[in-house]
Amino acid sequence: MQKILIVEDEKAIANLIKINLVAEGYRCTCAYDGETGADYIEKETFDLILLDIMLPEINGYELLEYVKPIGTPVIFLTAKGNVSDRIKGLKLGADDYIVKPFQIGELIARVEALLRRYGKINKKLTFADVEIDMVSRTVRKAGNIIDLTVKEFDLLVELVQNKNVALYRERLYEKVWGEAYMGDTRTLDSHIQRLRRKLNWEKEIKTVFRVGYRLEGGA
Ligand code: CA
Repeated sequence: MQKILIVEDEKAIANLIKINLVAEGYRCTCAYDGETGADYIEKETFDLILLDIMLPEINGYELLEYVKPIGTPVIFLTAKGNVSDRIKGLKLGADDYIVKPFQIGELIARVEALLRRYGKINKKLTFADVEIDMVSRTVRKAGNIIDLTVKEFDLLVELVQNKNVALYRERLYEKVWGEAYMGDTRTLDSHIQRLRRKLNWEKEIKTVFRVGYRLEGGA
């Protein structure tokens, strides 16, 4: 699932964007000031950032400087008629901008276009003899459909997208369940067990002592 950070101090706008992007299948986090935005950018990885320019604490330009080295695509949200702001934003390295007030359909189209440009919309993922279709959310192993629950599917995608990387339980849990990890590993562990069983991946999904899990091997 694609993760989008919305940094916008007008809560009504931020929440409206969030509701619409969530309905399109994105996962969204809102920050209502620049400092909170910076905190999120530091702690989590996002596939795309929607960034307002006029923000309390740290403004959009300053935040952009912060984002640039990480390479996350950015769309600026700018006030109507403020041409110099838009130019400045693009010069500083924003990928696109959208003028407020905007049609939500236009925003979604720009988000999709930018993700596509960055190659972030992968329709298919493969690992060994397992093929994951992100659009129809189906999984095949050696050509046979494997039935997975929503969370099992999301967990599988997370593992495959980070193959050969040790993933912390907290990170996995927060990515897949979309809520703060409270230290209870049972839910995550039981989902891992089921994935191992369903895919016959007892060896592939390694338990990493004191860390979490790592998917090992693959092409
Ligand atoms: Ca603002």
